[in-house]
Amino acid sequence: MTLSERVTVVQHPLVETSLVALRDIHTGTDAFRRHARLLTLILAFHVLQELPTREVVVATPLEETSGRVVDRNVIFVPVLRAGLAMLDAMSDFVPGSKVGFVGLERDEETAIAHSYYQKLPAQLAGAETIILDPMLATGGSAATTADLLRGHQANHIRLACIVAAPEGIELVQKRHPDVHIYTAVIDQGLNERKFIVPGLGDFGDRYFGTT
Ligand code: URA
Repeated sequence: MTLSERVTVVQHPLVETSLVALRDIHTGTDAFRRHARLLTLILAFHVLQELPTREVVVATPLEETSGRVVDRNVIFVPVLRAGLAMLDAMSDFVPGSKVGFVGLERDEETAIAHSYYQKLPAQLAGAETIILDPMLATGGSAATTADLLRGHQANHIRLACIVAAPEGIELVQKRHPDVHIYTAVIDQGLNERKFIVPGLGDFGDRYFGTT
């Protein structure tokens, strides 16, 4: 697979350590949630790295000085339900960010994603729109979400995931070449049930304790 410069694999010893914990079948729900949060915090630094800033004046207890703050509307779009696992950690960094929701369900037989719910902020044009979808498997959910966002005039779209399969990256790159993908790892591929291998199982089930 050829990776464009629009795919960033975030490499960090803490990411690798959390990834092992997430993969481990013996990791319980509490530890799974903690590592998902830690890993997302580190991903966030990279996903949000290119946000424009503007100068502001701030009064310290001693005197006035200047600094810079984020100068773009940021909209996080967790793909229900697993994407919710990344929302708190990401949005902690961006005061005033908004959240749009997209509910996609994967047909277990065909693995095709269909939308059962969407609620998006009014203004997507000009905003930094960040899709949160921890498992980029076939890429169908992420690409369909990007279609929906584009249909609402989104013109800066990024995708944050935790584990990506080459198949998913290829599909997103093909349908949305301008969408920058951030992931902690690119795994081997998909099995016959369209699960990522070696992966970590069903992210939503493990995060929400519904196994
Ligand atoms: N969704 C998951 O939660 N896990 C996979 O391996 C693929 C999709």
